[in-house]
Amino acid sequence: MTREFSNKVALVTGGSRGIGRSISIALGQSDARVAVNYLSDAVAARSTLADIEKKGGTGDIFQADVSNESAVIKMIEEIESSLGPIDILVTNAGIGLLQDHQDITFESYRKIMATNVDGTFLPVMAVKDGMIERGTGNIVCISSVAGLRARSKLISYSISKSAVIGLVRSCAAAFGPAVRVNGIAPGLIQTDMTKASMDLPLQESIKQETFLKTIGVPENISDAVLFLLSSRANFISGQTLIVDGGRVTVP
Ligand code: NAP
Repeated sequence: MTREFSNKVALVTGGSRGIGRSISIALGQSDARVAVNYLSDAVAARSTLADIEKKGGTGDIFQADVSNESAVIKMIEEIESSLGPIDILVTNAGIGLLQDHQDITFESYRKIMATNVDGTFLPVMAVKDGMIERGTGNIVCISSVAGLRARSKLISYSISKSAVIGLVRSCAAAFGPAVRVNGIAPGLIQTDMTKASMDLPLQESIKQETFLKTIGVPENISDAVLFLLSSRANFISGQTLIVDGGRVTVP
């Protein structure tokens, strides 16, 4: 346990599973009070909170659909009245769907945009005024290498993740100097999302394209998030850091 984020309140959207779970636990271990947001898997959210507490941290779980404006506003109010004003926001909740272009419908596109883009925009907009008023705040948004490189079966997803990179850049310009805003673009990370959407041969071919010849684990991303949130990154804002084992240059 370190004291890096003592007296800070951190909200991690989609903190119940996968990358968000690892970020929540890492923040708890750094002494932040962690608000673990989830959509429907309360068991997973409680298990993440239990792991935070086992390692000496504190926090609570908060259900909300991040694509729903009134649900996000209500959740922020609940967090601020029980844990205190939010100092750190990590927008991580996201969904992905491998689809041939012939199978994309406006409905399937809107579903991905709602979670990945609205679900980043709404929490950022809900916390930024408080952060700016208090003169301090730190935001990290999880994008994807799919927002930077061509992915023929991830058209909707890559549009949504490019939008997150644009949001990071423009919000960093608008909210500075009080608030730093950065992004992370993960490559392939072993989580429920990848298990559900990618078969093993595809995962193996991605592994072979990666300079480090490995698939990432959630801790690779939480380490990078904690760096961007730390004072070691005090001169970094508006950037999206690629954490992909060196694969992004492959077309
Ligand atoms: P995951 O294992 O599928 O977990 C997704 C998390 O998001 C869960 O906690 C889920 O809550 C939550 N969530 C989904 N929709 C939500 C909504 N509308 N409102 C609130 N919470 C919601 O996903 P992951 O692989 O950890 O991915 C996390 C982030 O990293 C996503 O933004 C993803 O696009 C990005 N990313 C992942 C990879 C990868 O290879 N895994 C690569 C690049 C980028 P419940 O538990 O309640 O369902």
